Amino acid sequence: MVRLLHPRGTEISFTLNNGVRIPALALGTANPPESIGGTKQAVKTAIKAGYRHIDTAWAYGSEPYVGEAIKELLEEGVIRREDIFITSKVWPVLWDDAERSLNESLQSLGVDYIDLWLQHWPICYAKVKDPHGINGLSRNPEKENGEPDYETSGDWIETYVQMEKIYLNPSDRRVRSIGVSNFPEQYLERIIYECAVKPTVNQVEMHPKLPQFSLNKFCLSHNILTAAYSPLGSHGAPNTKIPLVEELAEKYSVSPGAILNSYHIRQGHLVIARSLNNARIASNMEFATLTEEDLDKLDNLGVTEPKRYVDEKWNAIVPGFTGKGPKI
Ligand code: NDP
Repeated sequence: MVRLLHPRGTEISFTLNNGVRIPALALGTANPPESIGGTKQAVKTAIKAGYRHIDTAWAYGSEPYVGEAIKELLEEGVIRREDIFITSKVWPVLWDDAERSLNESLQSLGVDYIDLWLQHWPICYAKVKDPHGINGLSRNPEKENGEPDYETSGDWIETYVQMEKIYLNPSDRRVRSIGVSNFPEQYLERIIYECAVKPTVNQVEMHPKLPQFSLNKFCLSHNILTAAYSPLGSHGAPNTKIPLVEELAEKYSVSPGAILNSYHIRQGHLVIARSLNNARIASNMEFATLTEEDLDKLDNLGVTEPKRYVDEKWNAIVPGFTGKGPKI
């Protein structure tokens, strides 16, 4: 009986504004290059433990490993393709070639459709060849002076326009829903005004130190789900060390990671947490029914200790980012 009151985060799902169901908790796969090979095992472990949503991207270099994991899980009969939800994203170097991005993601993943396809950033990068980059392209091209090499003649909305054309084509079943990531309110407003398809999701950095109150209010009023990335504070999981988070973990007998994930799910938001460690993958699935008082206390950290972890130099072109964070 108690279990019913405390489901796991992976057992909760929401409905996107186009009617598609989406599991609330996803396994992130933006693993560091030196450990990216571990992605395959992490995805297999996660799906066997009950995760049904995998978050990846053209730019992560992890899609081939996600693909290998899915292939083996399908062969082992653990899941059918339709049992899992895959999110992928178009990187800004392919801002004017969403078709190429989709084809390469589908090929790397070894699937014939993606459940949610996001515009990764509202940025247009130049296409610079790089044999060590992603599929032959530099991921973060820089000019000789070290400044980001943006495609200054480009307009970031072009990516979304190309994505919605693919989504709206009735004979094209490669994408079940589309959305955006790292979009501030004014950019979402422009999409809603100029495009035919409202984004289903806006995936942004979000956690108690960056609660995104205003953006969430905006998204809620437009029936766009917000998805929280870097819930644990990204590399090294600094948010798991916050005393209040540790206190709540003890109160609910779950891991600090589970408190940080429950913070979002409890408020109707999606959350994506990454781990390559079997025990942490499992403990992040636990769910705590945090009270309003707990949520208010966690929210208050956004006032007393505000912190954005993902804020690299090349991000500064997007409103809300300073570009003053460390290179990741
Ligand atoms: P997270 O906030 O998920 O933190 C990951 C770190 O936390 C890793 O170092 C991991 O190490 C550690 N960790 C995981 N669980 C625990 C735990 N229970 N206790 C202690 N440490 C833990 O970082 P990300 O920045 O990767 O964000 C999650 C996902 O969101 C990404 O992987 C990606 O899919 C997505 N994302 C999207 C972005 C976008 O622009 N749209 C930007 C950034 C992320 P270990 O592996 O050793 O467990």
